[in-house]
Amino acid sequence: MHETIPAHGGELIDLTVRGDEREALRERAAGLPALRLNPRTVSDLELLGNGGFSPLKGFMGRVDYDPVVESMRLASGLPWSIPVTLAVSREEAKGLREGSEVALADEAGNVLAVMALAEQFDYDKRREARNVYRTEDEAHPGVAALYRQGDVLLGGGVRVIDLPPHDDFPPYRLTPAQTRAAFAERGWRTVVGFQTRNPVHRAHEYIQKCALEVVDGLLLHPLVGETKEDDIPAETRLRCYQVLLDGYYPKDRVILSVLPAAMRYAGPREAIFHALIRKNYGCTHFIVGRDHAGVGKYYGTFDAHVIFREFAPDELGISPLFFDHAFYCRRCQSMATTKTCPHGPEERVTLSGTRVREMLQRIELPPPEYSRREVAEILLQWANTDQYRI
Ligand SMILES: [Zn+2]
Repeated sequence: MHETIPAHGGELIDLTVRGDEREALRERAAGLPALRLNPRTVSDLELLGNGGFSPLKGFMGRVDYDPVVESMRLASGLPWSIPVTLAVSREEAKGLREGSEVALADEAGNVLAVMALAEQFDYDKRREARNVYRTEDEAHPGVAALYRQGDVLLGGGVRVIDLPPHDDFPPYRLTPAQTRAAFAERGWRTVVGFQTRNPVHRAHEYIQKCALEVVDGLLLHPLVGETKEDDIPAETRLRCYQVLLDGYYPKDRVILSVLPAAMRYAGPREAIFHALIRKNYGCTHFIVGRDHAGVGKYYGTFDAHVIFREFAPDELGISPLFFDHAFYCRRCQSMATTKTCPHGPEERVTLSGTRVREMLQRIELPPPEYSRREVAEILLQWANTDQYRI
């Protein structure tokens, strides 16, 4: 079985323990002080456990945290753009001793892992905000989450007893080892990863298919961890993808799976982060759109492209594919981008997210040049249920 690309750092990490060792760890964990992690940190624990965050083997200590915040590198020199940390309140930290073990549980109290607590350290939230998010504004959802979290970071290796339980999207919950096996089974040597937290429209389909013209396979990898309240729920997004795949994609060239990560909205730094995670899932290429992982007006349109220049290509391993926004052009009579269409904006069918929401609320379908009918109908259904909050 060949491998598409080695994991970041060379080896796919697996922090889950099995068999007798797992039983022993579970018993020991019952007697340890336990921390209840918020959903964001549980998402991080899952990606540590399944190797999505290779080469990390636990929550960052200061030796990695500082260079990641300052210069997007781990202590080893490997590129890494977003801190992966476990924050607790001073109160919680007081009860814990460096050199001891701590059980890590989810909000429901299920013990998932044991951490060897190597260190507790203070950190400067404003510095992290400035460097990672490029703003100290607490209106930024990623910065707000950072300011809300505890004032002390706990660093140390983790061993995972159980990956977080999920009852949603069971067929789509592939781990990095499983996507890699699926790629190998299909004989793919090159695979492009597509990150999204939005419903799929013609523009996304066009970009995915442009990429699919030059690589063997496509991993559609919607993010289903915590997102902003006003993002469209993952379940609805998944249904949109499913009808689109059924009708318009060659079955043997696409895999749909979900990424359990939480969104940070860190724009350019998160684009690097998303690319490295997809490398761990076995992708050789990664689509970086305009304003990737951005929010509001915090980032320039192409900041998420420019940031890749800060690394030598062989340091990242995975190759970014940069795309501009796509649209339907009436003169070209096809999908296009500003890179391929010379016509003016009056010829282009483009709609803002806000405009689409307004149409859906009026029970009006967006035009077929913007959204496939099957997809638009699912969105229409969602927009007119009680869960609709906008
Ligand atoms: Zn045109």
